[in-house]
Amino acid sequence: MRYFLTVLFAILIFGHLGVFTVCSNTGEVAQSQKNSDPGWSEYEVIDIHAHIGSFRGFDLKTETLLSNIRRFNIRLALISNIDGAHLPGTTLNLDENSANQITLQTVQEYPGLLRALAWARPTDPDGSPANIEPFLRDHGFVGVKLHPEMNQFAADDTLVDGYLELCAKYEVPAVFHCGAVGSNSGPEKIYTAAKRHPTVAVIFYHMGFTGAYQQAISVVKESIVAKDANLYLGTAQADPHFVLAAVKELGADRVLFGTDATYYGQNHYEEYTDFVKLLHENLSESDFAKVMHGNAIKLFRFEFLQ
Ligand SMILES: [Zn+2]
Repeated sequence: MRYFLTVLFAILIFGHLGVFTVCSNTGEVAQSQKNSDPGWSEYEVIDIHAHIGSFRGFDLKTETLLSNIRRFNIRLALISNIDGAHLPGTTLNLDENSANQITLQTVQEYPGLLRALAWARPTDPDGSPANIEPFLRDHGFVGVKLHPEMNQFAADDTLVDGYLELCAKYEVPAVFHCGAVGSNSGPEKIYTAAKRHPTVAVIFYHMGFTGAYQQAISVVKESIVAKDANLYLGTAQADPHFVLAAVKELGADRVLFGTDATYYGQNHYEEYTDFVKLLHENLSESDFAKVMHGNAIKLFRFEFLQ
């Protein structure tokens, strides 16, 4: 069902972009982009959620990501290869080593703009933390990505433990796609897994995809009170009003800016201009800076950016 919703989203988005493309023939796009210069350079944005690879119906080309990054002056984007998703016919469905080798090559080509997250496939017969370890140990990958929906496992399954142990060993965060309560990627399930590895920073990408925002906030709040896990929220596709609520309820230290680039294709970051404006207008300068880059610098150890 979630997959069909995603496809429906894609159709809606591409319908929208279709209109935009027609305009580009008249040169209006260049003009509108110029007029809507978001001035993000002063925000020193780190996008903790970006992709390379292919996903049928979406423009995730590396050139598309790079042109978005350059246009919006993103300081750094953290990429994972969505071809690691087990969705034959939709992605290339690559194994752990193949998917992450491509990520490695890509970040080596653009070291000033990109950093790598390793895509884990816990349900593969030959999936193993041993496949992921060299990327963390030898190649500077900054975290591990787990997608319970697209790789078909429950987030609290013991299959994830080896990968989270690896995160503990190399002191890097784990990022989980986080969806609705009760689904494979429900915030309560991710919390259950995170409690077994309380030193690992675990980031809930999307903070409850398609609307479980308050539930995701509540789970993180519970963990802060109980002091039994180290949880954070990522903002991709989230309702910005809930992002503000998250900062208020949990503190700015718990929220990190991510966008799922380039989900929206050629004009990906344009889709976030109102979102970022709302955060900028409603958060204190120091809280805004934490969300846009400070927390990422701390959790992923990007001290060189300070
Ligand atoms: Zn994503």
